[in-house]
This record gives sequence, C-alpha cells and structure tokens, in this order.
Amino acid sequence: MKTPPVPPLIIQNGTLILPDTLIEGGAVLCERGKITAIGKQVATPKNAVVIDAKGGYISPGFIDIHVHGGAGADFMDATVPAVRTAIKAHALHGTTTIFPTTTTGAPVQIMAMLSACREAKRTWEAAHGSRIAGVHLYGPYFAADKVGCHSRTGRRAPNAVEYERWFRDDLVRIATCAAELPGAEEFYQTARKHRCLITCGHSNANWAEMERAFKAGMRHVDHFWCAMSSVASLRTRFGTPMQAGMEQYVLATAEMSTEVIADGMHLSPELLDFAFRMKGAEKLCLVTDCNRALDMPPGRYRFGSDDDGPFFESDGNVGFVPGQGLASSVVGLDHMVHHMKKSTSATLPDAVRMASLTPAERTGIAKTCGSLEKGKQADVLILNRRLNVQHAFIGGVEVPRD
Ligand SMILES: [Zn+2]
Ligand SMILES: [Zn+2]
Repeated sequence: MKTPPVPPLIIQNGTLILPDTLIEGGAVLCERGKITAIGKQVATPKNAVVIDAKGGYISPGFIDIHVHGGAGADFMDATVPAVRTAIKAHALHGTTTIFPTTTTGAPVQIMAMLSACREAKRTWEAAHGSRIAGVHLYGPYFAADKVGCHSRTGRRAPNAVEYERWFRDDLVRIATCAAELPGAEEFYQTARKHRCLITCGHSNANWAEMERAFKAGMRHVDHFWCAMSSVASLRTRFGTPMQAGMEQYVLATAEMSTEVIADGMHLSPELLDFAFRMKGAEKLCLVTDCNRALDMPPGRYRFGSDDDGPFFESDGNVGFVPGQGLASSVVGLDHMVHHMKKSTSATLPDAVRMASLTPAERTGIAKTCGSLEKGKQADVLILNRRLNVQHAFIGGVEVPRD
C-alpha cells in the first residue's frame, strides 16, 4: 500500500532546537515530506494541519547509529516483522533514522539479518517507525579478549569472501572491525570503497594498530570505554612498557569521533562530561546500543538471534549478565538526550546535536536529515519540557502509537 498524499503540516508554539541555539516561539512548516519554512514567523497555508507544541520543544528527529533491537525484537532475529517491531519502538522514543546493528553470528545469520533489513527498508513507510538509513555491520569481527556479552562462537577475524557479499549493494553504511585482527586493514579498505563510516570496536588495539587502521580509513570508535583497550588491558596483552590504546588515540586525534551510551548505567556523569569536553558535540554521538528489552518488563532475554543468542537479564534500567558485567542498554535515545543534558555541561542544543546532526554528518546523510533546516526531510519531534517525546514525525507523517 502506498502512503496517501500528505497535506502541509505546521508545528507551532514551541522552542526550536537548532544545532547551536534555541529559538522560542518558533514554528516548522512541512510540505511533501520536507521542511519548507522554519523560524519565528511562518505563514500557515490554508489547508495545513496545525499542531500545537504547547510551549514544549520542537526538535530534529534523533539518529541512532548503534542499536540492536527493542520491544522484544532483535535485528538479528532476521525477520521483517522483528525489524518493524524494533523500529516502531525506537521511533516512539524519538529515533527517526536508524542503523540496525548486527552482532556476532554465523555467516547465514548475518546474511539473514541483512535480507530482513533490506526488505524492511524497501517496503518502509513512516507508520512502520524509524527510517532505515542502512545497516551497521558491527559483529562478527571482534577481538577474542573483548567480545563482551556477544556470542563467542559467532566471533571471527574478517574473511573477504564473506564480507564482500555483505557490502555488495551498499546497504551496509557503518562497518566495525577490531583493528588488531588479521585482515582488518583489507576490511577497512573495502568499507572505505563503499563510503562507510569505519569504526573500531570490541578491540584491544594499541596505538600502532590504531594508526594503521586510521590510514586504512577508520574514523570512529564504538561505545567509548566499553569493550575497548586501555593502558591496563594493553599491559596484560604486551607487558611493559605500558602502552597507549584506543582511548588515547581518539582523544589525541581530531578527525576521530566516538559515541557514548548515556543511559546513566554504563558511564558516570564525569566520564560523560569528560568525553563531551574532550571531543565536543561535533565528534561525539549519543547511541542507545539498545537491546530487545526496551519497553519490556524486567526479565531474561537473548542478545542477538532469538534462536541461539546468549542470555542476559534486564532489570528495567540496563542489561547485564550476572557475575560478568553490563549487556547494553534498555532505553531509547530520548532517555540518553535527557541524561546528557541533566548530568553534564552539554547544553540542550549540544545534547540534541549529538543525537542528530553529528551522527548524520559522520554517516554522510546530513544533507537530508539531522537538523531542522529548510530542504531537509521533515523528521521532527515535539518534546515536552521534560524532554519526553509527545509526537514523532518522519517525512512529515506522524508515527502512530498503536
Ligand atoms: Zn558492543
Ligand atoms: Zn552494541
């Protein structure tokens, strides 16, 4: 079924959140799926649908570059209904553009996940939830000593025969590999040919390995301070003299961006603020890294595929494996933006930028989304003063709460 023609939509009586400032008493006009006017004085077309933001915020839709699932579904379940379940849940938490993220798994499981996302993307309409901009190929190329809560059996070093097929149709837009694995540079070079954002994650790489990866195109590190090398972990790997690793490389290299899981459970406020102060809003993304337990009751769930993914528990605040550690977040980007604003020196425009324009820039889609700007897609949120999502519009169409 095709989406019926959309009448002009005007959202008014709200504070506009722009990348560097707030404008009170603003409005946004959306026509044919795009933003056509924005500011304090926007004329209302005769046939427009008028939405009152009631003095709340008018925000750009959020963009999540690292997310595994929600509402009971993991993208690795690898069915179109599972993909739609997860994107619907995230849209209602403010994510209007999403990069479904793989975990470790057998080659057929990764292929099946890509097929399900490809089909969900092809048949997508706003009522389904977040727009799929592409897949984040995250697992399976993790370092053996940094696998975290992911399935160990599904982890391996990159194999060109395998990944060439995954990259073929440019569905993959973000590509992760641990820099120290044999074949990592060839993997990065292939990902660069396909113009992906190239990232190093679940890695125990030292400075020299990061430098080689950077030359091959790597420009981002997954969830800062989680499953990555540190001076201490490199001492275990190499002994003394102690060495610099991913943390130092990212902080010392202006071109490098990274991301934080700002749920308040993974990182303390001072670490979140430190990352923000060191990298700035233009090189730090907020991600959810959310698993299937979003909007689900506390309990036991599988991480990754519902056939054979390892179990974790959710207490409603965070995922964890008892006796082992955290197993990613169970909340949406709305929560991350709110927590970042509340507990660090980031302003509201900064916090929103890190969840919208910055991930858009890093993934090369900022021409069409990521901020409230004339000509961009009408991906717009209405937030109340406590930053809860009241309405989410994607291409000017409201995501229904059914
Ligand atoms: Zn991870
Ligand atoms: Zn993850």
